[in-house]
Amino acid sequence: MSNCFILLAAGKGKRFKSKNPKQFINYKNKPLFMHSVNKAINSKLFKSILIVSNKPIKKINNKCIKVIKGGKERHQSSQNALNFIKNKKFKNVFIHDAARPNFSIKLLKRLNSSLKNNKAVVPFLKTDNSIKYKIKNRVKNLERDNLLFTQTPQCFDFKTLFNLSKINTLNVTDEASLFLNNNQEVKFIKGEKDNFKITIKSDLKKLNVKSFYGIGFDIHRLIKNKKLYLGGKQIPFHSGLQGHSDGDVIIHAIIDGLLGAMRKKDIGTLFPSNKIKFKNIRSPNMLSPILKTLDREGYFINNIDINLICEKPRVSKFRKKIINSLSNLLYINKNQINLKGKTVERLGLIGKEKAIACETIVSLNYYV
Ligand code: ZN
Repeated sequence: MSNCFILLAAGKGKRFKSKNPKQFINYKNKPLFMHSVNKAINSKLFKSILIVSNKPIKKINNKCIKVIKGGKERHQSSQNALNFIKNKKFKNVFIHDAARPNFSIKLLKRLNSSLKNNKAVVPFLKTDNSIKYKIKNRVKNLERDNLLFTQTPQCFDFKTLFNLSKINTLNVTDEASLFLNNNQEVKFIKGEKDNFKITIKSDLKKLNVKSFYGIGFDIHRLIKNKKLYLGGKQIPFHSGLQGHSDGDVIIHAIIDGLLGAMRKKDIGTLFPSNKIKFKNIRSPNMLSPILKTLDREGYFINNIDINLICEKPRVSKFRKKIINSLSNLLYINKNQINLKGKTVERLGLIGKEKAIACETIVSLNYYV
């Protein structure tokens, strides 16, 4: 795999009329551009993700993500990005406009497979509208069946695109234009209706939100000679949590909360403890199929509240570490997660430091 994903997020978005460029506004519970970043990561198709932005971006905790400055116009930002990676030996490059947050990972995969036999692959849609074309004062009819409305992500053989971009001085609005202007072949594949560009504020009003809630609970016994994992992080402690997996009560309770909100049964149904293949599984790996379902079905995490019930370790000592880890694992902002510590007055198994329990409430948004 030698693909690079370039995300163009440097536009000023004049038509959007907001102080905050539209790529950075909150859209479905996260900055708009992050939808594209997360999909690129989740697709596992990319070695590197390059964000082109003229606004500083808060550090994203992922080694394969880099941020560079853009140019005044879109084609200059694209040129900057291609120059930046020119010695990095990528075979292919995908270029995407951050203002299109709703494409699917399936589209990325279809583009990628078409690229095997082509140097440029571009998604497009047809239109249902009747089209007229104005030249000076004359308006003519255009045959709509001959019109292609192109979208991004578009993907290319890096070298070919780099050479075309280097000599280009025109203000093109996508990279497919560079190929077409130079009589180079472009493979057009079916785009997606949902992959519309957010241009004006009323595009956001198309969203109608429904909320769903899920509750999760889990408890594991503490045993000696096992590492303790909470929220995906190893926490120094005298014992670890017994179980078929690494016993991470926080992640297990979050999974049940997520499944609850999606109305998809429970963790035991998905990962039966009598299945050998799940033995000693790390809990972050149990989370990834759930997140895929979340993404596929169009749910977005709104917030998660967690009660960790134990005498020790003290939550206050590890709160930051655990929230950081969960924010990375769930692709959400740290301020969408709250972690509370609850002791039990030394009562019962938990009070005697022989078990740790966790309960969660998860809220999901679904946009229609
Ligand atoms: Zn568990």
